[in-house]
Amino acid sequence: MSFDEKLTKTLEALGAKDEASVRALFNEVWDALENEKRTLVSTPAANDADRMERAKALRDRWLSRRNGLLAQVDEHWLKPASRELKPIVGREFNQLRQLAKGLEVEELIKSVRVESGSAVVGRDLNDREGLGAGKGKGITQAVEAMSLDPTLPGNRRSLGSIHPITRVQREIEEIFITLGFWIESGPEIESVYYNFDALNIPESHPARDDWDTFYIDPQTVLRTHTSPVQIHAMKKYGAPLHILIPGKCYRRDNPDATHSPMFHQIEGMAIDQNVTFADLKGTLVFFAKRFFGDKTRTSFHPSFFPFTEPSGEVAVSCPICDGQGCRTCKQSGWIEVMGCGMVHPEVLRHGGIDPDRYSGWAFGLGVERYAMMKYGIHDIQLFYQSDLRFLEQF
Ligand SMILES: [Zn+2]
Repeated sequence: MSFDEKLTKTLEALGAKDEASVRALFNEVWDALENEKRTLVSTPAANDADRMERAKALRDRWLSRRNGLLAQVDEHWLKPASRELKPIVGREFNQLRQLAKGLEVEELIKSVRVESGSAVVGRDLNDREGLGAGKGKGITQAVEAMSLDPTLPGNRRSLGSIHPITRVQREIEEIFITLGFWIESGPEIESVYYNFDALNIPESHPARDDWDTFYIDPQTVLRTHTSPVQIHAMKKYGAPLHILIPGKCYRRDNPDATHSPMFHQIEGMAIDQNVTFADLKGTLVFFAKRFFGDKTRTSFHPSFFPFTEPSGEVAVSCPICDGQGCRTCKQSGWIEVMGCGMVHPEVLRHGGIDPDRYSGWAFGLGVERYAMMKYGIHDIQLFYQSDLRFLEQF
């Protein structure tokens, strides 16, 4: 079956039931589009009119609203796609549409050569006959022979977009800024004291092992979390304190679909008199509804971190299936989104704050995980590969 014919059938009829088979089908279309464009560009046109006609024909074949190939992908693949496949098909379709922008007539004619006549747009000057023989005169002749067509459009400079990690980070920041928090940052190269000791992480803790942490020397590490900034901020400002700490962190993880040796965290910390676990819950429930949607339910479970006591994990009802169970939440209906707890008195002391007068809470979350959930991305590595086909979607 040719790929044209495949576009007239639904994915179900083509037997595409999972992400890999959908991708394979889209790859076929992608290749066909690039091939047809290459053919057009590599065959010189007889004259300007011919060039225009051929560019229009290719544009119409793909982009015509009524029965262009892209319209067919929309009609037969995307619209009837199952609920499970729809996000994947949608994403692939968007990428294809981006690629198809290169089929607009004004884009195409820029790259098609004209065999004879005045226009030599897109043609390598050295290809012109007589240039070599004319020696010194060659360039002058070539320039004289070349007429400038002021009606051709200029080269459009493509606009960049905000990286999905930055986008999600800013979105989270804004929610906390409206609550009166401010943004605080600190060094990525950190002393062992700030990264571990001041946070009540004992010498024997496995996180301190050089299998887990990048040591620069025995007293210096690449910070493994954003928590050391808590200590810096407490020392700098004292109490009360309401801060949000976004930033890069480093751990010795091998890169795979869910791990990266560099990743982004956001921590929040609130210290004041009479701050209780109720304040922590109230704030995080508010945040979860703002970020994941009003219907979101939250669930707190006890956990352990050396720097908070008591400590907890927060889960939200799955924003994809609304708690019904799906692939994203592994059928549980819930997704773990952060760790939190009341700041350990020892940590307050290290920050120079009197734990008998003040109390506080803190939380920490992974930005990549939020971005992956929000945009349905299944491989963390995509964030760091600088592939424009991926980045242009945001
Ligand atoms: Zn779910």
